[in-house]
Amino acid sequence: MADASSLPVVIVGSGLAGYTIAREFRKRDKLTPLVVVSRDHAGFYSKPMLSNALSGRKDASTLVMKSATQMADELPATVLAHTEVRRIDTFARVVHLANREPLAYRDLVLALGADAIRLPLEGDGAADVLSVNDLDDYVRFADRLDGVSRVAILGAGLIGCEFANDLLARSITPTVIDPAAGPLSRLLPVAAGEWMRARLEAAGVRFRFGLAAISALRNADGYSLDLTDGSRVEADLVLSAIGLRPRSGLAREAGLVVQRGIVADRHLATSAAHVYAVGDCAEVEGHTLPYVMPIMQQARALAATLSGTPTAVSYAAMPVLVKTPACPTIVCPPPLGAAGDWSLRSDADALEARFCDADGTLLGFVLMGSATAQRQALAAQVPALLA
Ligand SMILES: Cc1cc2nc3c(=O)[nH]c(=O)nc-3n(C[C@H](O)[C@H](O)[C@H](O)COP(=O)(O)OP(=O)(O)OC[C@H]3O[C@@H](n4cnc5c(N)ncnc54)[C@H](O)[C@@H]3O)c2cc1C
Repeated sequence: MADASSLPVVIVGSGLAGYTIAREFRKRDKLTPLVVVSRDHAGFYSKPMLSNALSGRKDASTLVMKSATQMADELPATVLAHTEVRRIDTFARVVHLANREPLAYRDLVLALGADAIRLPLEGDGAADVLSVNDLDDYVRFADRLDGVSRVAILGAGLIGCEFANDLLARSITPTVIDPAAGPLSRLLPVAAGEWMRARLEAAGVRFRFGLAAISALRNADGYSLDLTDGSRVEADLVLSAIGLRPRSGLAREAGLVVQRGIVADRHLATSAAHVYAVGDCAEVEGHTLPYVMPIMQQARALAATLSGTPTAVSYAAMPVLVKTPACPTIVCPPPLGAAGDWSLRSDADALEARFCDADGTLLGFVLMGSATAQRQALAAQVPALLA
């Protein structure tokens, strides 16, 4: 093997995690060769904008902020677009690429993202169900919207509700189907879900809660979805937004420890030497947090580590802005499994829900409507997730 110190830092993935690491690393180290490998176009875009692009009148060309070539010049780095990593050899410190020579690394950063989970639907329309988890998906979705007036959305989580709200900007009626009792059921207490539901319904979103789709059948006008109670939803287009699963196959095949995501410690180090994991694919100290703010914290810490100052990631409270203008919402979920209770107060304009433990420590909160102005004041009271 060549002297490893002269080898590049190789980042696999050109999403928010991959490019944020690359930028943070370049702020500290201008000399070490840097290679970004991506199986997609490798242009830089903001994924969160995909679920409010219709109301923002954005299309694929305006969503891409920098092309792969611009990113390569700006960093600087070698950016290998449309190049898939097929295998990682952690012993030889090499990644095997489709249609290219293997690439040796000094350090390898896995920023592979997550896959959309597919609902196992029956029927000849099942394969036509779309999901939007990257720019290429968005282009396929947006291209199908002309002449559409009814979209069925599977899943009333954050992404399903954001798309439902956004479709209203195109005068499309969304029907959102979810087995739970209300929207964002994993993030909101029941009463907050009801508050949001009322506002989204008033804006034009239809919900079918407590139900799941069983099959999608094509018909002359689009699709018929059969639901678990025997009822039917007719739609011109079906969008699935039932969740994401960290992309961990490549790591698992390379022998890395994988649980929900690629297991990493607070230095973002995986179980293999010189291999790190960040973003949606990573499970850092037991936490999989598929949001922008944790990625920023991870990128800063890992860039410091890779440039010679070992740095553990720390997460302060990280409230998530839900892009549903019909019901402005900020969610700071309590840690998974935390003991405590929700208390809630609301009026016609605002809702504030606080999750506190037995000592009264604020562990999480939900703010809606005009209460969203309290975001910073409450976030400052929530203890850090990883101090
Ligand atoms: C519609 C939508 C709206 C969202 N809104 C918000 C929001 O409002 N706020 C918020 O905090 N979060 C939001 N999120 C989540 C946030 O966008 C993600 O957490 C973040 O973008 C993930 O970035 P990533 O780099 O980890 O993954 P990705 O952006 O998915 O990047 C993964 C990269 O890995 C590459 N790759 C994968 N496998 C290989 C391989 N074998 N070889 C080579 N390359 C490979 C891919 O090509 C891609 O470039 C949203 C997500 C979605 C889908």
